[in-house]
Amino acid sequence: MRWRRCAVVILAWACCLSPAFGFDPPTVPANPFLVSLSADFEQAVYEVVEGVYVAVGYARSNPVLIEGVDGLIVIDPAESVVAAADVRDAYNEHLDNIFDGKPVKAIIYTHYHDCHIHGATVFAGDNSPEIIAHETLAENLFSPPGAVYSLIFPIKATRAVRYMGLMQQGNPGYFVNGGIFPFSVAGPSGYLPPTITVEDELEITISGVDFVLTHAPGETSDIIYVWLPKTKVLVEIGDFYKSFPAITTLRGASFRNPLDYLESIDKMRSLNAEYLVLIHGGQPIVGAENISRILTDYRDGLQYIHDQTVRYMNQGLTADKIIEIIELPPHLADNPYLQEYFGQIDRDIFQIFLQYLGWFTGECRDMFPMSLTEQAQNMAELVGGVTHLATKAQEGLDEGNTVWALELADYVLVLDPEHVGAFDIRHAAMLSLAETTYNAQSRNYLLSEYLEETGQIAIGMVGFDRIDDNLVRYMPMDTLFGIQAVSLNASAYLDEDILVGLYLTDLCGTTQPASYAMHLRRGVLEVQPRIADDPAFVVTTESLVWKNVVLGKLDPHEVVSNGDILVGGADPQALYDFLGFFDRQ
Ligand SMILES: [Zn+2]
Repeated sequence: MRWRRCAVVILAWACCLSPAFGFDPPTVPANPFLVSLSADFEQAVYEVVEGVYVAVGYARSNPVLIEGVDGLIVIDPAESVVAAADVRDAYNEHLDNIFDGKPVKAIIYTHYHDCHIHGATVFAGDNSPEIIAHETLAENLFSPPGAVYSLIFPIKATRAVRYMGLMQQGNPGYFVNGGIFPFSVAGPSGYLPPTITVEDELEITISGVDFVLTHAPGETSDIIYVWLPKTKVLVEIGDFYKSFPAITTLRGASFRNPLDYLESIDKMRSLNAEYLVLIHGGQPIVGAENISRILTDYRDGLQYIHDQTVRYMNQGLTADKIIEIIELPPHLADNPYLQEYFGQIDRDIFQIFLQYLGWFTGECRDMFPMSLTEQAQNMAELVGGVTHLATKAQEGLDEGNTVWALELADYVLVLDPEHVGAFDIRHAAMLSLAETTYNAQSRNYLLSEYLEETGQIAIGMVGFDRIDDNLVRYMPMDTLFGIQAVSLNASAYLDEDILVGLYLTDLCGTTQPASYAMHLRRGVLEVQPRIADDPAFVVTTESLVWKNVVLGKLDPHEVVSNGDILVGGADPQALYDFLGFFDRQ
């Protein structure tokens, strides 16, 4: 195998995403273990075998390029059109302008996460390549409840900004890496929907290259791995990377079943791959024996934590007790692929417990949840008042009991939101934890919160209006109505009962319903695909306009005045009043 390397370049995004001024403090030291991981992400274009390349360090993922006889195949085109352009330029620079010589025949998405789909248009150009993905990819993007561009977009996107450290990633005094990726490159989406889908397995030859695409759920339910049988190259994402797996993330994640990971990794082990290309991480791993040993240790580490967690659950232990007992056995504890750079074992144990048994721990004390205010009041009472509580928090900080200090400071702030001393303790604790941890998610989240609370960055709450225009185009109407329903400000309008008709002209004559009855009924919105009987008024427009109005991307007054929305049977004010029942961005 020949390695082709290039110098690290300063990327343009760095100055776009970070403030021109420095932060206070100017630097938060980082755990050397986390710092050393950055060497994996040094920018390089690797030739794995003849005609198979991977670009490491240019984007959040490592897009793979395969050269066929008369065309190119791209696997996972990165997180934005800007990231994809950087990757394409790197390939062109190192491979004699390869994209000028042959058209892109196919783009394969290994799963739906943003760093694997949004750069597609950059590589597709005018070539209309096949877009290949698992059959549930679109569902994972748009279908409630858990999909990205669906009911919980605002909170997931907001927390994603924090755990990836997006706002501080241009400042090396704060940002180190993302644990399994070097950084993220912001930019618009160039997602293209799949034209060929995979169910369990698809054998396909593209431009003379044989592929086997196999469904291998784990981190997401739609993962496919890519196997090149002739050259024994395995391209993989999500079920294996250089960190203990994140069964949960600080962004928030839907069900990630450890047993799915095991089954999928075992499928990969059976291939006896000679080359393992990582879509997140560093250079490819080489050698069948080496790969087999690494994958075996990896799946054993996860199985050990999963099985022992379940064993103790069955003995009646709660997750906060189980984390005291379980750790990786000595033969796996130092394995470089099982370190907690991205996933974290105690958090995963909580998530496994939650996934099997739900919220209730089984303990009577947890049967009647206490509000945070009640907990804080009881804690203050215990130590003789809020001032003493703040003193205890300071003592915790001074003694190095940092998480406890953070918890106590938060109790003080619940009772006295302006308590300056508690803020200072909270922030000192957050900086100390960020300095100590080698989990990239934790460091980035802590520092994002610190910088935001101290007014040095502004994240705020991301709204539905921030869903990229390109995704709005592909969003199904059912998803839009779901978003509309969860945006209803119910408690303010509990007496409202109004039926509104909606007619979407562009859907007339298609397989989708064009007429809808939107019934806002005392605190809930029910939308049915039918013509409304005796509605208060009828809205006539195109589906994209209605989506953009509901998502807060278009001002209803403007679209009414320019004729893009017609209100029949009432004054347009009736529409503005109706929309006023919902949260606007
Ligand atoms: Zn990814």
